[in-house]
Amino acid sequence: MFWAQFFSRHAFVQKILTRNSVTRWTSKSVKHGWAVCLRSNFFNSSNNYSPKLVLGIETSCDDTGAAVVDDTGNIIGEALHSQTEVHLKTGGIIPVVAQQLHRENIERIVKETLDFSGISLDELSAVATTIKPGLALSLGVGLEYSLKLVNKYKKPFIPIHHMEAHALTIRLTNQVEFPFLVLLISGGHCILAVVQGVSDFLLLGQSMDVAPGNMLDKVARRLSLTKHPECYNMSGGKAIEHLARQGNRMHYELRAPMKHHANCNFSFSGLQLGATKIIVQKEKEEGLQEGHLLSCVTDIAAAVQHVVAVHIANQTHRAILFCIKSGILSQTNATLVVSGGVASNQYIRRALQIVTDANDFNLLCPPPRLCTDNGVMIAWNGIERMRAGLGVLHSTDDMRYEPKASFGVDISKKVEEAAIKVPSIKLEKNLLK
Ligand code: AMP
Ligand code: MG
Repeated sequence: MFWAQFFSRHAFVQKILTRNSVTRWTSKSVKHGWAVCLRSNFFNSSNNYSPKLVLGIETSCDDTGAAVVDDTGNIIGEALHSQTEVHLKTGGIIPVVAQQLHRENIERIVKETLDFSGISLDELSAVATTIKPGLALSLGVGLEYSLKLVNKYKKPFIPIHHMEAHALTIRLTNQVEFPFLVLLISGGHCILAVVQGVSDFLLLGQSMDVAPGNMLDKVARRLSLTKHPECYNMSGGKAIEHLARQGNRMHYELRAPMKHHANCNFSFSGLQLGATKIIVQKEKEEGLQEGHLLSCVTDIAAAVQHVVAVHIANQTHRAILFCIKSGILSQTNATLVVSGGVASNQYIRRALQIVTDANDFNLLCPPPRLCTDNGVMIAWNGIERMRAGLGVLHSTDDMRYEPKASFGVDISKKVEEAAIKVPSIKLEKNLLK
C-alpha cells in the first residue's frame, strides 16, 4: 500500500501544484482545505505506516517561510511572509529592518503552517532550517527560533544550505534523477552547478560580482520604477520584465560581458554601470533630476533585460557543452533546472529554452512560488537529507549560522581550461520572434 502511494506521488504532487497554482493559495480556507485532505489521505489509510514529517523554516534574506512536507513529497501546509513591500519603500534591504520583521512574523508563520497542516509539533520527525548563506541578522532569527523548538520538543535538527535547497526543489515537483545541471539566478546568487547527489555538487561557475536580481533591483531603483503606476509594488526584476514588454531593446546598446572568457562565470556590475550611464545621459537630455521617471523607461528596461538574458544563456550554453564533453552528463541526464527569483522572468527562460533546444536538453523550472525563497524547499531538503542519512543532528551544541558559505566542489578552473567556444545559435534573432 505504501509503495503504491510512493509511486503515485509525483502524479499526486503535480495535481496539488496545479490546483495550487490556480488558486495561488490566497485564502486560508483553501490552504486549510488541502491540509485536511492530505492528512486524511495519509493518516486514515489502512496501513500502519506513518509518514515522516519535516517542518522547514526559511529566514535567510527577506522572506519568512515555513512548511511541513512529508517523506513522499506532499506539501502538508505552508505559510510565507514577504518583506518586499517594506524594502521597496526603503530602497533596498536594511538588515536590521529585515531582522525585526522576521522576529515579528516567525512565530505566526510557523503556527499558521502547523494549523493548516493539522500537525502538532510532537508529530514532527525533524525541523530543518536555513543556516547558510544569507544575511547574518536574518539567519540568526530562524536559527534561534528553531533551536528553541527542537530543544523543547526533543526533535532532530537538520541544518540547511540555502542553495542546496533551491537546487533540489525540482525533485519535489518533477521526477528528476541525479545528476542534472542547475542554474540558480536570484537576488543574492548566480550559480551554475552539476547536482550529483543530495549534498554533492560540482560548481562550474558563479557571479564574480553581484547577482542578476540584485543588479536588476538597483537599475529599477535608479529608474525610480516604484513611481511608475504599473510597477509601484513590484520587485525591481519584475518591474523591468513588465516594462520591457512595452519597450524596444534595440534603442540602447549594452554589450554582454565576459565575451572573451571561456568560462562559466558571470558578471553584472559592468552592465549596471552601463545602464546607469544611459540613464544619466537621458536625464540630461530630458532635463530631469534623479528620482523622476524618464519617458524611455520601457526601452531601457528592454535593453537591460535582453543583455542579462544573453549573458546568462551564453554561460549556460558553455556549461551544457562542458558537461557533454567531459561526460558528466549523458543523453539520459540531459536536464537543465533553473530556479531562483530571476528564473520567473519569461524572456530569460525563452533565451534558455533556445539553448536547451539546440542541445537536446530538457529545461525544467519549479513553479514561480517555489523559485523564490520559501519554507517548502527547506522542508523538502530536510526530507532529502533524512532519506539519504545526511546531516540529521541530535545535538545542536555549537550550532552557528554562516552568512558566507561555499557551494560544492569548485571545478570552474577545469571548465576554463577546456576552452569551450560557444557556437552561434542566433539567440538575438530567435529572441525577437
Ligand atoms: P530570490 O532572491 O530568489 O528571493 O528572488 C528575488 C529576486 O528575483 C529579486 O532580485 C527580484 O528583483 C528578482 N525577480 C523577481 N521576479 C523577477 C522577474 N520576473 N524577472 C527578473 N527578476 C525577477
Ligand atoms: Mg534564495
